[in-house]
Amino acid sequence: MKDFIPHQVVDYYNPVSLIEGDTIVSEGNLSCLCSCTSFTVQHWGETRKGILGQVELIATGENGVGMSLSCQKCGTSLTLFDSETDGYDVVVRGVTSSTKNTLKKLETLSCPKCFNKQFHVKVKYEHLPKTETDVVGLLDSKNAFQWIWVSLECNSCSKKFRNFIDHETG
Ligand SMILES: [Zn+2]
Ligand SMILES: [Zn+2]
Repeated sequence: MKDFIPHQVVDYYNPVSLIEGDTIVSEGNLSCLCSCTSFTVQHWGETRKGILGQVELIATGENGVGMSLSCQKCGTSLTLFDSETDGYDVVVRGVTSSTKNTLKKLETLSCPKCFNKQFHVKVKYEHLPKTETDVVGLLDSKNAFQWIWVSLECNSCSKKFRNFIDHETG
């Protein structure tokens, strides 16, 4: 299981499911080391309404998309996803310092229904099986996921943001 969770997330990840087929799809809920499951969500990239009325995050500027979380209770923060440093293409290509240090404009997400700013967070990754990443010779196969989905749920009114991030990385 841990073979398929990126380093920065593994301590926060509580497995929900693992489906092994042509690809490996792992899904988990996030909780802080202090066991709190509510996070303030900051993101970059633009939010827009998808065709099904769902809110989704899309890359518009040069910094792609990403999300960082901070624990409601103890303030611990983590970068859940950064399209410039995470995912298959980046791991294969290698990250250049010029793109890594670009300033990002972070926005704090608030629930459109109740204006609360705390969310439960679920993340899902799709990886190639280890036999294939070994062939490619990837040093950081955990971070070489090909797809990431992040779903949120308002901890006050329970409004769901299914696949708020739905991002193919390779
Ligand atoms: Zn905490
Ligand atoms: Zn709400």
